[in-house]
Amino acid sequence: MGRGHGWNRVFARDLSRLEYTPFPTAPLTPIPAVPVSSPYPLVSIDHALAAILAHSPALGSERVPLTDALGRILVENVIAPAPVPPFPASAKDGFAVIAGDGTRVRKLLGEQMAGRIGDLQVEPGAVIRITTGAAIPPGADAVVMVEYTSERDGWIEIETTVSPGADIRPAGQDIAAGETALNQGAVLGPAEIGLLAAVGLAEAPVYRRPHVGILSTGDELVEPGAGLEPGQIYDSNRFSLAAAVTQAGAIARTYGIAIDTPAALADFFEAALAENDVLLTSGGVSMGKLDLLKPLLETRGTVHFGRVIMKPGKPVTFATIAGKPIFSLPGFPVSALVSFELFVRPALRQMQGDMAWRRPRLQATLAHDLHHDPHRTEFQRAHVYVEDGRFLARTTGPQGSGRLLSLVGANALLELAPGEGFLPAGATTTALLLQPIGA
Ligand code: AMP
Ligand code: MG
Repeated sequence: MGRGHGWNRVFARDLSRLEYTPFPTAPLTPIPAVPVSSPYPLVSIDHALAAILAHSPALGSERVPLTDALGRILVENVIAPAPVPPFPASAKDGFAVIAGDGTRVRKLLGEQMAGRIGDLQVEPGAVIRITTGAAIPPGADAVVMVEYTSERDGWIEIETTVSPGADIRPAGQDIAAGETALNQGAVLGPAEIGLLAAVGLAEAPVYRRPHVGILSTGDELVEPGAGLEPGQIYDSNRFSLAAAVTQAGAIARTYGIAIDTPAALADFFEAALAENDVLLTSGGVSMGKLDLLKPLLETRGTVHFGRVIMKPGKPVTFATIAGKPIFSLPGFPVSALVSFELFVRPALRQMQGDMAWRRPRLQATLAHDLHHDPHRTEFQRAHVYVEDGRFLARTTGPQGSGRLLSLVGANALLELAPGEGFLPAGATTTALLLQPIGA
């Protein structure tokens, strides 16, 4: 299948979208010239990502209560200040004994419960009843499980041989004092949070989470829930991007919809720059007359790139203003989310200390023929699943940049390098895993 095939498909699809526009009879009012080609060079995805990561250093640190620590990232190694367990403890319910004591039937002196320290001492010919987690009483050097004993009139028969140390958890068996319990950069999950509590910490030392200001731009956009006038659509990017920011572990602040005027955009930058670490806009970065973001960013800061060789998301723009990363994403809802995934998420993860932010990549076998862009790396939305022990990939239907349904149910992006523009069923391709592979 040659290059021509892919082009014909693209061409035919575009033609079908054309609508008949009557030729204007009245003279046109002069309009300012709009450049017909972008002044921004097309940069590679790697180049774009490197520029972003270079401008998204980790933020400072803070201490948060353990109940708020889920998903946060440790800013320093955590050294156990004391051993876990702090004292030799019984691993079983049973009897504290002297292992070398040959007596089969021994006198029960009393009991030692978890959390209580008594004044009893184990002597030859005697035992003390003990519960799991209780401190081993003085004199004892082993525990015999209750299952290996029988009790009669205050006397305990030991029905097994006992070796010294049996069923005793020595102090520091789990973690020794001074041992590194967790390493800097660890993402705190249930076990890590439990460990912090176990070594006695009430708060976790973690990286700060970036605050992200989010703006939708476009005269056609309307708040969901309101009525639609002709030509209007609902703003979906603000909500999808806020959810993506939250999912990336950052804090989303939304700033509504800005109309396509320099003043409305300037107002946003004025307010949002002061309150956030990162800004995120969508729309207004392509070649239209009202695509005002790039010129505005040029006057306020430094634009590091304004176009990337990829599909979707080609006009994605990255700037810094006063050192803060500013992402201006394309308006098409899929372009916005795919460019978020590839460029914004890595920055947000790195800023909160996650050095392992890369998504897993795997080789998947295509379940069907697939056409893709022959000139730009294309990211098609797909469902990856396991069949007969191998990964299969099936795209999620039509891949238009506006069709959010192509991301619904997708757990992967197929990374399709330029070339022939066609892959037959059975070919293998790289998949970027966005979510765990389900059934
Ligand atoms: P733009 O990048 O501003 O040229 O917008 C490209 C396409 O995305 C247009 O069809 C817009 O109507 C659409 N679009 C822009 N912003 C949004 C948004 N916030 N929600 C949904 N669609 C949008
Ligand atoms: Mg627009």
